[in-house]
Amino acid sequence: MAYRTASANCLEILTGIPPTDLLMEEKFRRSLKNENFVEIHDDILNEWCDRWRNNPGDSWCKQLIPDPESWLRRNYGYPYFWLTQLFTGHGIFGSYLFRFKKTDSNNCKLCITERDTPEHIFFSCSRFINKKRMLDLELDTTLTPKNFQTAILKNPTNWNLIQKYVKDILTTKSPLYQNQPLPNPPPPPSAEDIPDGNSGVSREVNS
Ligand SMILES: [Zn+2]
Repeated sequence: MAYRTASANCLEILTGIPPTDLLMEEKFRRSLKNENFVEIHDDILNEWCDRWRNNPGDSWCKQLIPDPESWLRRNYGYPYFWLTQLFTGHGIFGSYLFRFKKTDSNNCKLCITERDTPEHIFFSCSRFINKKRMLDLELDTTLTPKNFQTAILKNPTNWNLIQKYVKDILTTKSPLYQNQPLPNPPPPPSAEDIPDGNSGVSREVNS
C-alpha cells in the first residue's frame, strides 16, 4: 500500500527475501567453499525464523504465520497485492486509514459496531458471513487466524480459494473508501506462480 509502513520483518517473511545481513552472511560463507550450501541455507533459515518468533511487534502477522519455516519452505503461492493487505493490516481498513486521518472513523462501515481490522473483516464481519461460510465449506474447515497457516498451506487450491475470498472482500470494501485511490493491482496470480527474481531462501532450498 501507498503509505509503506509495514515492518521490514513482516515484508521479509511475506516476500521470502531474507534480511540483508543474513544474505551477506550466506554469500560470505559460500565464498569460503568449506561448507555445504544446503547447510548454509538451513542455518540462515533457522536464524531468520528465530528472529521472526522472538522479535517484538508484528503480532497480527505472527498470528497468521506462527510457523515461519513451513511458510518459507512452501513451494507455491506468493502473497501479492490482496493477501499482503490481510497479512500486514495495511490496506483498505479503517483501523489503518484512521491512523493517517484518511477516514473519519476506524469502525467497520459495513456492520458499524466493530473496529475495521483484518481480523474482523475476514473472520467475523456479519456483512460477509455468507461468503465466509462458503469459504469454510470449500476449505472443509472453519477458517480462523489460529488455523490460517495450516489451511492456506494445505494445497494450492486452498491458497487460491483464500486469495479469491480476500480479493472479493477488499474489492467490495474499496468503494467505501473512494477518496483513497488504490494502485492498480495485477491480475490475481494462481498459487503455482513463483515471482521472477525471488531470491529467497525457500526457493533456493527447494530448487
Ligand atoms: Zn463489520
